[in-house]
Amino acid sequence: MKIHYLGTAYSSRKHSLCDDYVRRIRAEHLANTREGYVDIAYSAVVCEHGYVYEGRGLHKRTGANGNAELNARDYAVCALLGSSGLTKPPDAMLNGLRDAIEWFRTHGSAGDWIGGHKDGYATECPGPPLYAWVKSGARRPGGSGGGSDGKYIVQAHDTLSGIARRFDLDWQELAKVNGISEPYTVYVGQELVLPESGGGTQAPPYPGRTAFVLGRRHQSVTDLDRQLVRLGFTRHHDGNGYQPGPLFTAYTRRNIADFQRSRPELSSDPDGYPGPVTWELAHTLPR
Ligand SMILES: [Zn+2]
Ligand SMILES: [Zn+2]
Repeated sequence: MKIHYLGTAYSSRKHSLCDDYVRRIRAEHLANTREGYVDIAYSAVVCEHGYVYEGRGLHKRTGANGNAELNARDYAVCALLGSSGLTKPPDAMLNGLRDAIEWFRTHGSAGDWIGGHKDGYATECPGPPLYAWVKSGARRPGGSGGGSDGKYIVQAHDTLSGIARRFDLDWQELAKVNGISEPYTVYVGQELVLPESGGGTQAPPYPGRTAFVLGRRHQSVTDLDRQLVRLGFTRHHDGNGYQPGPLFTAYTRRNIADFQRSRPELSSDPDGYPGPVTWELAHTLPR
């Protein structure tokens, strides 16, 4: 396996733009008449978010290693990492590179050796930070892998309970805050909001069903209305916009029903009357 970087300026970007970038590399390679590439030169490309893009793929000679012998000998995996801009590989990218390496080993007969483009060829590639990682064994990053800003990007082989354990969280709370109903529905690259452990957002005590009666007033209706506004469930109103208030109206009920339909935990019975779970979710879900 040989690891590469772009060696040009590259700036960090949203993942939704990564596939365009990979296609752009391919188009540039195909337009390169001097090299005469038949496809993107790399065997695979890995973005900063940890996604692996198939290039030439398994059992195909690469075009990126410098000469015919090196191309025949090693697969070439390129990280979307620049010589300026984004120059340090984020943990998600290292995990993605590791995923690519394991893919080529398991299904593509790649050997154990991992090097950089510069091994045996005169180039700076893959740049000092990535090359240092390669030479130290190209291991998956340990430790936290992010989360300092209250968010975590799901990486390969992560499970929801594993992520929860790493951040000392209750996995059910982590699932709830992120609207996940099944424990295995996290996918690589997904951004999870990390609830503060030991109680971050907490709902006030559920006031009971008698607080929510059509045509009656209760302070808890105002409270719930505020959450509906915060979460954007306000499409039913009397024509002047939906305003928080103590009166439980038909509009209140329909907006609550919209909210219930949006939640897998509640959608089986979207009656528009808030029970304890509706109450708690309305207060604790992030916007
Ligand atoms: Zn290279
Ligand atoms: Zn990406």
